[in-house]
Amino acid sequence: MGGVRGRQAGRTRIAKELNAMDTTAPPATPPATRGQISRPSGLVENVYARIRDDIMSLKIAPNARIPVDSLVRELGVSQTPIREALSMLEANGLVTKQRFIGYCAAPTLNRKQFEDLYEIRLLVEPYGARRAAEKMHDRDLIDICGLALQMSPDRANESRAAYDLFAEQDSEFHTRIARGSGNELIAESLSRLHVHLHIFRLRFHPEITKEAYAEHALITRALQRRHPEEAEAAMRSHIQKSYERLVKFTVD
Ligand SMILES: [Zn+2]
Repeated sequence: MGGVRGRQAGRTRIAKELNAMDTTAPPATPPATRGQISRPSGLVENVYARIRDDIMSLKIAPNARIPVDSLVRELGVSQTPIREALSMLEANGLVTKQRFIGYCAAPTLNRKQFEDLYEIRLLVEPYGARRAAEKMHDRDLIDICGLALQMSPDRANESRAAYDLFAEQDSEFHTRIARGSGNELIAESLSRLHVHLHIFRLRFHPEITKEAYAEHALITRALQRRHPEEAEAAMRSHIQKSYERLVKFTVD
């Protein structure tokens, strides 16, 4: 119960913060020229993060309508930042815009989309890990090992929030290895897939974090040993196992 109250209090606080940021008072700085938007920076990003979290945690269910008006009331901000945030979410594939209905949470991946996603991952990421073992800077390597350790599964906290944090850190882990390859196009193509936004909506299960943690350890060990073949194999195995863990939760 305390958790629910805490969450509500948190939401009220966020609404207040967002409200405070969405001031309609004239800016202290010289008035913006026509066409420019004068608004405190970060507002759209905050609204984006808030709606994204609600979609990721399934508080907003797949396919559910996302009424702009109720978000205006709930977040205490105007329609403009909400529409901008929804457009960003649409670009990331988490939201769809439907004629006569408006914005809806995207459906979770179907079997074909899921298989396509993993096919690309298997083409790009093991090779990225191989190159990272050869090229990643020592400092980045230390950082990524630290990140992998932070993802240690916490048996005392198998909450949705802990799972969502794991999803974020997993995304960061894979992004950093792709960047470590030294090929920006590898990193960019991976980031465009928005892998974690899609796969972590499929299923909330603490077991997933435990298994992935052990697999990440094998990847970081290979990177530390600067062993390209081993890093490539460890990444391939991690992605294949991730596929097996999640494919059963997709529908045709
Ligand atoms: Zn992973």
